[in-house]
Amino acid sequence: MARVFNFSAGPAMLPEPVLKKAAEEMLDYKGSGMSVMEMSHRSKPFEEIIKGAEATLREIMGIPDNYYVLFLQGGASLQFAMVPLNLFNNSKKADYVNTGTWSKKAISEAKKYGTVNVVASSENQKFAEIPALDPAMFSKDADYFHITTNNTIEGTVFKDLPATGTVPLVADMSSNILSEAVDVSKFGLIYAGAQKNIGPAGVTVVIVRKDLVGKALPITPTLLDYKIHAENESLYNTPPCYAVYIAKLVFEWVKSEGGVKAIAERNLMKANMLYKAIDGSKLYKAPVTNPKFRSIMNVPFALPTEELDEKFLGEAKKVGLTTLKGHRSVGGCRASIYNAMPVEGVKKLVEFMKDFEAKNKV
Ligand SMILES: *Cc1c(COP(=O)(O)O)cnc(C)c1O
Repeated sequence: MARVFNFSAGPAMLPEPVLKKAAEEMLDYKGSGMSVMEMSHRSKPFEEIIKGAEATLREIMGIPDNYYVLFLQGGASLQFAMVPLNLFNNSKKADYVNTGTWSKKAISEAKKYGTVNVVASSENQKFAEIPALDPAMFSKDADYFHITTNNTIEGTVFKDLPATGTVPLVADMSSNILSEAVDVSKFGLIYAGAQKNIGPAGVTVVIVRKDLVGKALPITPTLLDYKIHAENESLYNTPPCYAVYIAKLVFEWVKSEGGVKAIAERNLMKANMLYKAIDGSKLYKAPVTNPKFRSIMNVPFALPTEELDEKFLGEAKKVGLTTLKGHRSVGGCRASIYNAMPVEGVKKLVEFMKDFEAKNKV
């Protein structure tokens, strides 16, 4: 069996021990005589799976009791609508920071339900930085303030959170949840599609402060009301059972690796190794030049010409370094190095980059 180092931005690599465990339990989950895929979501074993997933996530993220943890569907993209539908409960105004493709989508969706104030944007800088935030620009009466903590496509990250005072901070953490410790109590709501750092596509995690739930706009479809899911412990309708099961195994893996803090140290080491290789070369250039804004999850870089990008990608693939192509909107290359990417994968990539540069002098 030849597994590759898969640098995909998502769906992304899963930890090998998780895949092995899932394989072992595939035909007969803990003596039930069936796969988790074939099991009623109202059965005892599945109840233990979803409760266990929540308990372990609460533990590894230090989620306080005054927050709900919900396992939903529709991806992070559905949260672009669910957030305004549920949180536009007073002024129907929200502040957004425009830091990339995903922020833009969140902004255009929220505009359907209320007033969106874009307090800052780095679009004119091609999203290669996080814009400076001036609290004087913030709406005092906003129902919430939205950021995309890690910009998956552009490779930037918020290192400092905006000081929003009593206005709830809402974060799309799809591509950096569980990559480093966060103080959940600083947020009103955190959401993340699973397919980057949590598990397979199909489940979306929402962590929401309890007092923000129960005030959805009257037009909100039942299935998009956080309250319905909170009251029914994410079992109002059939959840994506198998995705929740794998997410539980991933949370347990994070814990067994020493928790989020230990994983964060490893992530930082991996990212430093890669940025050092890029900065120390004449062939590769990172569009995000300021180290302060560099993501440790998604590392975009480009070679001097599209032809060289193509050659690089083709040769990398031959040695088992795959899915390094940049997002179609920005081109170039991108290495996504989520929690499950082993250190050896990044080492192998860095060695390959040096080799390739030696053979392709510019
Ligand atoms: C991948 C991603 C999304 C979209 O997620 P879906 O689950 O495909 O809807 C949204 N925001 C960010 C930051 C992402 O990385």
